[in-house]
Amino acid sequence: MDMSSRDVVIVGGGISGAAAAYELARAGASVTLVEKGALASMASGWTLAGVRQSGRHPAELPLATAAVRRWEHLADELDSDVGYRQEGNLRLARTADEVPAIANLVRGQRVQGLDVTFLDGNRAVRAVAPALAETIVAASYCPSDGHADPVATVRAFAAAARRHGADIRTDTKVTGLDVAGGRVRGVQTAAGAIAADAVVIAAGVHSDELCTLVDLDLPITIRLTGVVQTTPVPPLLRQVLGVANADFAGRQQVDGRLRMSGPIGEWRWPNSDRELGAEDALPSAQSVAAILTRGIAVLPALAQAGVARVWAGLIDMTPDGLPVIERAPEIDGLVIAAGFSGHGFCLGPVTGRIVCELIAHGRSSLPIEAFRRARFTGVEGTAKAELLG
Ligand SMILES: Cc1cc2nc3c(=O)[nH]c(=O)nc-3n(C[C@H](O)[C@H](O)[C@H](O)COP(=O)(O)OP(=O)(O)OC[C@H]3O[C@@H](n4cnc5c(N)ncnc54)[C@H](O)[C@@H]3O)c2cc1C
Repeated sequence: MDMSSRDVVIVGGGISGAAAAYELARAGASVTLVEKGALASMASGWTLAGVRQSGRHPAELPLATAAVRRWEHLADELDSDVGYRQEGNLRLARTADEVPAIANLVRGQRVQGLDVTFLDGNRAVRAVAPALAETIVAASYCPSDGHADPVATVRAFAAAARRHGADIRTDTKVTGLDVAGGRVRGVQTAAGAIAADAVVIAAGVHSDELCTLVDLDLPITIRLTGVVQTTPVPPLLRQVLGVANADFAGRQQVDGRLRMSGPIGEWRWPNSDRELGAEDALPSAQSVAAILTRGIAVLPALAQAGVARVWAGLIDMTPDGLPVIERAPEIDGLVIAAGFSGHGFCLGPVTGRIVCELIAHGRSSLPIEAFRRARFTGVEGTAKAELLG
């Protein structure tokens, strides 16, 4: 696609925005990515960074599968180590009561064509992951799932975008969108205006406020989950772990640290200007305790690890837990990629491609009808947030 006459501004330097910058820049567009903090300073840094197809909603599965195909070659494509390991995802049944949920998941996803198997009994589970507890009853196993280093991935996309000529501006906040005659004309930033004939809102939990600036409704409710990271420990676990009721997820990073998340709670902006202070989003002691207790129960060797860091991740939940990826029908040239509801990291490489296609041709080669914002008209409430790793 020849995009050489297009000026595009992308708001947000998480994986969605950085991947879009890369795709658009290499297609020839003149790209400016504007990030209010550092690259990957919000969800794309807080994330567990599982790259999974298993457990996906049927509408997201084609995107996740296409994303995994990209992840397999992403390091070569971006010429950078993104820490990707395709070593599988295990969703555990910790009790007999949890077995039907896992068995159903396997059945349903096999029908959708995913290579996922049911590991029946502790011996079968521990043949795949020997460090798991002897109490685990069963698991689903999707060998083509995996995980990656989220900050390295975002930086790799941004660096590759730069090599294709993109201008990546960090520490620059977008404060307004310029719209005239039904068309987007650019953005206002704290450092001045930037003209553009296409603007991408990929601003995570801030996307709804940017939409509000141009009278568009993007229903996002924020949820908070704690994350615990340990000191490096010897190799214990290659797969990403989830559990049947999604109250725990975890993985071992390439550097040996375990990174785990747990219960999801409500959270509100502490002030109307939505600036986050250092102590405005923290996990409660109870949620950290729950992560550690549940983690040790499934991976007993975790008890010996040091706790190196805890932090909170904010999640941009939509009413149905699926993202919005669309060309806004109300404003020519405005594309929205937001509301990933706790599972947008894996999708990043295809989100970027879809955004590029929407700007270049007005349509996507992957099915995205389920992700139109119009589906929320008259809808209230929020889906239950689930982090599945
Ligand atoms: C604890 C946790 C675990 C998760 N686990 C997984 C997982 O295992 N697998 C998975 O696929 N997904 C997971 N997710 C979800 C995934 O991390 C996110 O969906 C994904 O990172 C979203 O990327 P994004 O680029 O859309 O948003 P973000 O990474 O939030 O990026 C948005 C960026 O926009 C910037 N921005 C906002 N407003 C402005 C403005 N006005 N001007 C300029 N810049 C602005 C922000 O600073 C931010 O950097 C998890 C999320 C959390 C929190």
